[in-house]
Amino acid sequence: MNASIALIPGDGIGPEVVAEARRVLAAVASIHGHDFAFTELLLGGAAIDAVGTPLPPETIAGARACHAVLLGAVGGPRWSDPTAPTRPEDGLLGIRRALGLFANVRPITTHWQLLDASPLRRDLVEDVDIVIYRELTGGIYFGGSTTSDDGSTVTDHMTYSVHEIERIVRLAAQAARDRRGHLTSVDKANVLAVSRLWRRTTDRIMTDEYPDVTHETQLVDAMAMHLLSRPRDFDVIVTGNMFGDILSDEASMLPGSLGLLPSASLGTDGPGLYEPIHGSAPDIAGTGTANPLGMILSAAMALRHSLALPDEAAAVERAVDRVLARGLRTADIAAGSPAVSTEQMGSAVANALT
Ligand code: NAD
Repeated sequence: MNASIALIPGDGIGPEVVAEARRVLAAVASIHGHDFAFTELLLGGAAIDAVGTPLPPETIAGARACHAVLLGAVGGPRWSDPTAPTRPEDGLLGIRRALGLFANVRPITTHWQLLDASPLRRDLVEDVDIVIYRELTGGIYFGGSTTSDDGSTVTDHMTYSVHEIERIVRLAAQAARDRRGHLTSVDKANVLAVSRLWRRTTDRIMTDEYPDVTHETQLVDAMAMHLLSRPRDFDVIVTGNMFGDILSDEASMLPGSLGLLPSASLGTDGPGLYEPIHGSAPDIAGTGTANPLGMILSAAMALRHSLALPDEAAAVERAVDRVLARGLRTADIAAGSPAVSTEQMGSAVANALT
């Protein structure tokens, strides 16, 4: 197929890991007979330096014109002056909004080769394979806030509409149908009216439209415990913005390293945005030691979700497994053993593709 892919290197280690994702995608194209055209776009601190704004209009237009957008990371101490009129992170929120991305998808898979990197016991994290669907544009983060006249009381508003709940639940339920057929919806329906709407809407959709997918609900406080005590029991998890923010960070500790985990942000139509869950890691930027696997696995998600190339996505995931099985480790997962560079890891994945 012919596909156009936007690359947004961003800041810190972003350019280093994006270069490796590009290398792997180019190898996929050559092995499987596709034609991928890459366009580089500016975002974050790099865009502030180049053109004075973290989200240039050309970046929005360029991203919209592509099938998928791969983003490294943005931010760093260089742009963290609190008095600055704009920050790199404004670019990230802005591009998510401009592309209408309402679902953040975060797979949490433990690699058998790295089980000892997890802070949890090996027998708890073995074979964990979860995908979290977090609603990205509603809830308390976007409900606005009010402050009393004397400033002594502040209120944040949590709002969800049936439409917002329906569209994320359908995406998650479809993913569950394509995987092991189990959906867990997380809310706080014993306390919050918004959560009761969430639960009613989820129950209706699952009964009417996905009778073949088993479905359970969990209160968010109980779920925080279950994720650590029995993570293997979960398949697809769907939840609102704030609960998803917290639970997905908690779950990201299961595999042991930030550098391994990919994510996708999806909308109704238009390109998805694919990025590793880590930040710009300014402490190691430029040293060639960053782990590119989270970015490479994000590229695999782009192949699956935006380019409809599931076999190629699985090929990339298998290649990552192969290089880990051969013992290749970047410094963050080497546990003191000799480590390979970012480029060596990316090249090894590209060469392990079949
Ligand atoms: P971070 O994820 O950048 O780094 C946390 C720790 O993990 C650091 O020690 C870093 O060296 C290490 N690390 C992260 N990714 C790694 C990788 N691929 N390989 C090896 N080690 C890795 O988080 P932080 O230090 O809190 O934030 C740094 C900057 O990144 C801040 O400006 C923050 O705002 C920004 N940030 C951006 C995003 C994003 O672009 N989506 C997300 C989080 C943080």
